[in-house]
Amino acid sequence: SELTPYKILNREFVKSLLMPRKKFDHKGTYGHGLLISGSYGKMGAAILASRASLRSGIGLLTSHIPRLGYQIMQTAVPETMVSIDRSDIIFTEFPNLDQFKAIAIGPGIDKKQNSYKAMIDLLKEVKVPMVLDADAINIIGEHPELKDDLPMGCVFTPHMKEFERLVGKSKDSYTRNCMQREFAKEHQLTLVLKGAYTAICCPEGSCYFNPTGNPGMATAGSGDVLTGIILSLLSQGYSSHVAAIIGVYLHGLAGDLASVDLGIEALTASDIIDYLPKAWLKLK
Ligand code: AMP
Ligand code: MG
Repeated sequence: SELTPYKILNREFVKSLLMPRKKFDHKGTYGHGLLISGSYGKMGAAILASRASLRSGIGLLTSHIPRLGYQIMQTAVPETMVSIDRSDIIFTEFPNLDQFKAIAIGPGIDKKQNSYKAMIDLLKEVKVPMVLDADAINIIGEHPELKDDLPMGCVFTPHMKEFERLVGKSKDSYTRNCMQREFAKEHQLTLVLKGAYTAICCPEGSCYFNPTGNPGMATAGSGDVLTGIILSLLSQGYSSHVAAIIGVYLHGLAGDLASVDLGIEALTASDIIDYLPKAWLKLK
């Protein structure tokens, strides 16, 4: 395996990465995560990511959302604490970061001018592992200078379109994979390219392909669930590339278990969350 950077994930390998929980653990043991998500018309993304995080073992979660989402979030996700932006509709600021063990940003945020400004400040201040998804990736794609000053331990989770905005277009899948590995090495981050056989490229050059998941997961909100899961794992102390590996495998496994009972056409992102408990049990 030293001869090739490529590996295919399997259940035994993912199991071997899991840290056992101990009798005297408490919620402080599993970390406090900050999730920055949601905007006018996209509060569902914030709810899906929050719920997925809480179904994946996080100790405490704070969801930072625009004002209009306050009652929506408090009602839909009673387990999360809420931090409210001064803006009614978009992300323009963030709470004091000292207390957070990991941060995720992107699901359902917008890329308006003020979000870009807040993003610059966030990238400067973050000192813990961070997941970047959706419009957080698009903002960086539109302002390439931001790529050169990223915090340590970032995990980027683009789908194909977001990947092209961030890294560039490529003529075939092999070239794309080379660009992905190169980008992860150059910027010292974990770069997850989502789709069938999601590819996870690590800063030191290795690349893992994920066999779990199915076309039923090609549905709105599916990626927001993954962001929540990876945030949860980072908060629990898994290193960035390990959190990406476990998260991607678990997310696909939950989708597969859901599809056995519900089929592929009817599958929704909420179903993936509902099957996370069974997916966790499969890893025992
Ligand atoms: P997003 O486009 O951000 O909502 O992310 C979609 C999620 O669903 C990613 O985690 C993909 O890996 C997963 N997904 C989408 N289509 C498929 C597929 N055909 N097979 C397996 N996973 C998929
Ligand atoms: Mg997405």
